[in-house]
Amino acid sequence: MSDQNQVTAAPAVSIHGVNKWYAAYHALKDIHLDIAQGERVVVCGPSGSGKSTMIRCINRLETYQEGSIRVCDMELTDDPSNIRSIRRRVGMVFQQFNLFPHLSILDNCTVAPVGTLKVPRRQAEEKAMHFLKSVHIPDHAHKYPHQLSGGQQQRAAIARALCMDPEIMLFDEPTSALDPEMISEVLDTMIELAENGMTMVCVTHEMNFARQVANRVIFMDEGLIKEEGTPQQFFDSPRHPRLRNFLNQILH
Ligand code: ADP
Ligand code: MG
Repeated sequence: MSDQNQVTAAPAVSIHGVNKWYAAYHALKDIHLDIAQGERVVVCGPSGSGKSTMIRCINRLETYQEGSIRVCDMELTDDPSNIRSIRRRVGMVFQQFNLFPHLSILDNCTVAPVGTLKVPRRQAEEKAMHFLKSVHIPDHAHKYPHQLSGGQQQRAAIARALCMDPEIMLFDEPTSALDPEMISEVLDTMIELAENGMTMVCVTHEMNFARQVANRVIFMDEGLIKEEGTPQQFFDSPRHPRLRNFLNQILH
């Protein structure tokens, strides 16, 4: 899945010197991170370490007080049209799926393309069916979210994000709310996405997924990126004692 173009192309995401406070609490401390096009980055770390805050900054679901972020070579600003165009290019999948409960799965997938991108409904529905097939739930298109299992809902949420033709996909613990038997169906969908070359940033503690898919794994702790490396370096020779401790906890 590596691609020589990655070396020369502008980064898909460039986070530079970002600091964020929630009131007096310093949640992100001088974060620097460049993510290449087509790169797959897994972010892990203890609860409260700033993982969600960091990835939510990438599509401006969170603001920050210092530093800058560029996405697909656009600098993030407070301008609403800038925010809209960033969100169009950056899809996000959340732990709790966040499907619209009162819309069918198909309508969940078409509401933003039709409403925001002004895609004709018929064309939006064709595309939605294409992605619902690719996540293996085309038969559920006319059902409502509550009629689907958690794993199916999460795959619907992935299809919904893909209907916007994102250049980057963010995942925030997408399997943490799922029963164990449904985790692999969602991870398999994410692996297929990775194989198709999507730039991905995934907060997850699914370490087999990280080993299989990630180009790079990042460890966050207390608002800092404490360590990063290839999956092999990261898991087989962690340097930082906090990371060794963390890996001991999640792997044993
Ligand atoms: P993680 O995703 O690694 O568990 P978060 O990014 O959610 O961590 O949170 C990092 C820290 O910021 C935590 O201490 C959390 O309590 C705090 N925090 C997160 N969101 C808010 C918020 N909206 N208001 C105040 N504090 C917050
Ligand atoms: Mg989180």
